[in-house]
Amino acid sequence: MESLPFEMPEFAPGSVWLVGAGPGDPGLLSLLGYHALRSADAIVYDALVDTRLIDAARPGALREYAGKRGGKPSPKQRDISLRLVELARAGHRVLRLKGGDPFVFGRGGEEALTLVGAGVPFRIVPGISSGVGGLAYAGIPVTHRDVNHAVTFVTGHGVTGDLPDGLDWRALAHGAPVLVFYMALKHLDAIVRRLIAAGRPPGDAAAIVVRASLPDQRVLETTLAQAPRAAEAAGLQPPGLFVVGEAVRLRAGLDWLGAMSHNRSLDADPLRLARDAASA
Ligand code: SAH
Repeated sequence: MESLPFEMPEFAPGSVWLVGAGPGDPGLLSLLGYHALRSADAIVYDALVDTRLIDAARPGALREYAGKRGGKPSPKQRDISLRLVELARAGHRVLRLKGGDPFVFGRGGEEALTLVGAGVPFRIVPGISSGVGGLAYAGIPVTHRDVNHAVTFVTGHGVTGDLPDGLDWRALAHGAPVLVFYMALKHLDAIVRRLIAAGRPPGDAAAIVVRASLPDQRVLETTLAQAPRAAEAAGLQPPGLFVVGEAVRLRAGLDWLGAMSHNRSLDADPLRLARDAASA
């Protein structure tokens, strides 16, 4: 890779680097991730990794798609992990490139534990998780001093593909001012019903962000109660994030991408309306 003003760790043959590629925009890959991409002999990548990154790999590198796409046969998680072991044992520098951050709803922990079991050396390179960086591309900060001091990240998909068992909906509904659901679109209706039944106000601000940070990013601002119908009417398809909470209103001021690409005007005091409503 072109020289940087600091040293990069060696990517040793026979090792695996588990790298988070970020939410989509290839520019969000870290320098360590780029170093790995330019050095790897074999790249095993997921559906959510942008093809522009794969195209930037070292010429001659082996590229293997290990993504899971709804409706199509996909490699089992265990097979992917074992494939990493096999490639490493063959002496390759193996780059396992995953969407977002490998340790955030990404099964990076499972893959790394298989490597541990097999005695294969590995490094974890964190990535920008879509629930933080993807929402930033939508102009939604996950925390903001005036509206929230806590955020909860939740998966809308359990091991079986249904809503995960064992979520404490009462605690979720009341525990944090901002909730960010990953893998949320399939079960959006059930998520919304459970949150409202558990006491979350139906009129809470909410947004659905699809293909965040990619050229076809879509952001739908709505309310908790209206979200499922609005998502359906807009024909939104995964991957999507569902975010609930007043922080969504900040988008009126912070949609920097809309301001840049569509000349959208920004409101320097986006919480004014919410404040006015609260004090009326
Ligand atoms: N490890 C990833 C999450 C993998 S789970 C991360 O840290 O971001 C897959 C889910 O991530 C998707 O169903 C979706 O909810 C979310 N996701 C990933 N990339 C996204 C993107 N560009 N736009 C919106 N949601 C995204």
